[in-house]
Amino acid sequence: MPTNRTRKHRNQRIKLTAEMVALFRQGEPLRAIYDAHLAAGNCGGSAAPGRGHCADCDEFVEVSKRLNWRLLGLSPGHISVFDAALDKGGPAPSWMKHLCAYATWEPARRLRAALRQAAAQQEAADEVLIAGVLLREP
Ligand SMILES: [Zn+2]
Repeated sequence: MPTNRTRKHRNQRIKLTAEMVALFRQGEPLRAIYDAHLAAGNCGGSAAPGRGHCADCDEFVEVSKRLNWRLLGLSPGHISVFDAALDKGGPAPSWMKHLCAYATWEPARRLRAALRQAAAQQEAADEVLIAGVLLREP
């Protein structure tokens, strides 16, 4: 029987772009702020009225959505590449086994590792550029 269904290519390779790496670098320090504000249960009283987040957390949410969902094409249920728990290595924690996100642990871990490596390379390149500029100063 014919079908109009189009298959999703879940195993498609993702090519990291300069924008993805730049967003990752922008998001990492904001993620630390966001995590601290989440743990504290507020944004230090500086949340914009009606938004519930401070400017840093708002920026992190926007960066995270753009990188995870729009550029990387991950579903909202996918573990974020900004999840620092992925850095511990190893398999997903056993408490996650009943969650849909459990299956996304390994792809997210690989993506985060690749983004961290690319970010380090981009930062090293930036330092070379800055050093080059400084060398030309009188
Ligand atoms: Zn905040």
